[in-house]
Amino acid sequence: MVVDGLAARLDQLRSALPASVKLLAVSKGQPPEVIRAAVALGLRSFGESRLQEAQAKQGALGDLEPLDWHFIGRLQANKARGVLRHFGTIHSVDSLELAQRLGRIAAEEGLSPAVFLQVKLRPDPSKGGFDPETLRQQWPELAALAPLRPVGLMTLAPLGLASDGRLALFRDCAALAAELGLGELSMGMSGDWPEAVEAGSTWVRLGGALFGSRQM
Ligand SMILES: *Cc1c(COP(=O)(O)O)cnc(C)c1O
Repeated sequence: MVVDGLAARLDQLRSALPASVKLLAVSKGQPPEVIRAAVALGLRSFGESRLQEAQAKQGALGDLEPLDWHFIGRLQANKARGVLRHFGTIHSVDSLELAQRLGRIAAEEGLSPAVFLQVKLRPDPSKGGFDPETLRQQWPELAALAPLRPVGLMTLAPLGLASDGRLALFRDCAALAAELGLGELSMGMSGDWPEAVEAGSTWVRLGGALFGSRQM
């Protein structure tokens, strides 16, 4: 077995997650064989945060049925085209400028990726994201950036926030998504997914809780 306990952890997560919540298997730091093992257990959606690492793995898994790749890392402008070519969903669109660039390149490439707008709901110098007021102001422009398809909001809880603080933050994110008419919520990682699910997450992004520690 490539990953000890993967099947058992996946079973446990599947029984703990409500049917409305999709599981994004965060495979960054895991070799292609681990992804292969996860596919054999029925997973299809994988999250990666570095373009080069993902490209190499996608190449190594080219014999499988097409998988559903999600980009979850910070996206530098010069990587926009590569990310669009290799991922159907982007969770980390954190500025109007980046969204405009993605929209322009997606049109050139004939692609219509699903995007999550990343919001920063609490001060956190280590993370990107729209502040809610800016997002409200720029929303009409963002919503009109076809062929991009804004489907939801994504957020990350600052390290060190206690459980009740995380729940409040995720609820704020859900309220903002509802205000904008966005149906999907990418919220919750290995350390905080129960609070995110309680607040209405539709996509939990789980690395360690599924795969254990990173191998590469
Ligand atoms: C790495 C990462 C995850 C998964 O983190 P775990 O704590 O291993 O579950 C989720 N979201 C983002 C944006 C990440 O970079």
